[in-house]
Amino acid sequence: MITVDWSAWKPGDEDSQLIASAPGWLAEGLRNQRISFPGSEDVDLDSIARIIALGLGEGSAEATVTKKIVNELGLLKPLATSLAHFGMALAMSQRALGDYRNVEGVRVQWDSAGCCDKCDKNDGKIVEAGQAFTTGHQFPPACNYCICCIMPFIEF
Ligand SMILES: [Zn+2]
Ligand SMILES: [Zn+2]
Repeated sequence: MITVDWSAWKPGDEDSQLIASAPGWLAEGLRNQRISFPGSEDVDLDSIARIIALGLGEGSAEATVTKKIVNELGLLKPLATSLAHFGMALAMSQRALGDYRNVEGVRVQWDSAGCCDKCDKNDGKIVEAGQAFTTGHQFPPACNYCICCIMPFIEF
């Protein structure tokens, strides 16, 4: 299953690894994106984030990261799958936004994958990098299995 913007992906992605390594990153991400998964309040999100960060740095597939979360932390597979997907998509979006913000005058456009009604509300909308889209999100994921992405929008 393709879940993030793999076109922007490079193996050994140290920037997104760095992003995901910040203490409290995953808990804050879930809060900011207004997403919760059943059982996610009972697990050690920093430990999960550590595995996600490592996976990002190594260019691992989501399935590999999920398996590690299950094996090393004993999470149930559905929750591990949800958190691995969410975390990797989040780090990718944050890294992308970080890149775009460094470019003068760049605005970002939401490209909805049709995940849900919420995501579709943002589809094609253009904001200044770092500003909120229609749903209040600065970047995907906006829902549990969001595979939307943001891309730079430059007017010529
Ligand atoms: Zn959605
Ligand atoms: Zn989405």
